[in-house]
Amino acid sequence: MTVGFIGLGIMGSPMAVHLVDAGHDVIGFDVVPASLSAFAEAGGTAAANVAETVTQAEVVITMLPDHPHVESVVFGEDGVLANAKDGLLLIDMSTIRPESSLAIAEAAKAKGVRVLDAPVSGGEAGAKNAALSIMVGGEEADFNAAKPLFDLLGKTVVHVGPHGAGQVVKAANQLVVGGTYALVAEAIVLLEASGVDARTGLDVLAGGLAASRILDLKRETMVARQFAPGFRIDLHHKDMGIALAAARQADVSLPVTGLVAQLIAAARAMGHGSLDHSALLKVTEQLSSR
Ligand code: NAD
Repeated sequence: MTVGFIGLGIMGSPMAVHLVDAGHDVIGFDVVPASLSAFAEAGGTAAANVAETVTQAEVVITMLPDHPHVESVVFGEDGVLANAKDGLLLIDMSTIRPESSLAIAEAAKAKGVRVLDAPVSGGEAGAKNAALSIMVGGEEADFNAAKPLFDLLGKTVVHVGPHGAGQVVKAANQLVVGGTYALVAEAIVLLEASGVDARTGLDVLAGGLAASRILDLKRETMVARQFAPGFRIDLHHKDMGIALAAARQADVSLPVTGLVAQLIAAARAMGHGSLDHSALLKVTEQLSSR
């Protein structure tokens, strides 16, 4: 299959290479030249622009930071819709606002382009190990058509509802992840301030009801204060905004999500936006002057 892949960053790069390794003809594009040449070295075809990525493709995947990037790539003069073949399937795997996914699906339909929103969870490790969780919104027939590609990228691949539903599930995922980081950070601060070895304490937590993937995967790097991304605070800040906007849209109150969003905003304001989201620990420490 000929697949266009736009956005070869921390997540997109290993994902696109999995498709190459499976024998697909993958044409990739990114605005950063170094990402493009790394992709070409891994066996992909580097395109000079979005149009070149799309023209021959049966499927186009976007893995971009936020909705303005996705909208400019999709709606731009040289963008996806302007260059799509008849019946193109556009799969946006970025995390963006549900309402943006809906607007894209509607505009694409008018051009005969099918769309899925398919954000992911599992982080850089999940992308590298083809072990992502993929939550997909859109028509069931389009999901079934895309499933063989999703299976090359993830282990948990679920059609969760109509257009936008994938993004709502991702927003729910991000508020749980942000809240878990905030509380693991508080546990570390409490343990250390009380003179208890944090590694030993968290090892016990990881074996009980407080167990989580975050404790499993990140407790060692958090205690060691290693905050190289991973998933940047800036992106999680964006995702908390998406969760709060979705809550407003659904007319529900999510007070803990609001608090976690402010803690992540503080991390950003303190200059930690390009660190991993586990650096929320720095905010928790500062609140106790530690
Ligand atoms: P990233 O910043 O590493 O990658 C995004 C890439 O898009 C960059 O290489 C950038 O140069 C490229 N780009 C931006 N505008 C472009 C344009 N107009 N045309 C072509 N390329 C363009 O970000 P990432 O960590 O790979 O995240 C991508 C998406 O996946 C985000 O929506 C993020 O929220 C989501 N996500 C990330 C993680 C993670 O752990 N990093 C996990 C799950 C979901």
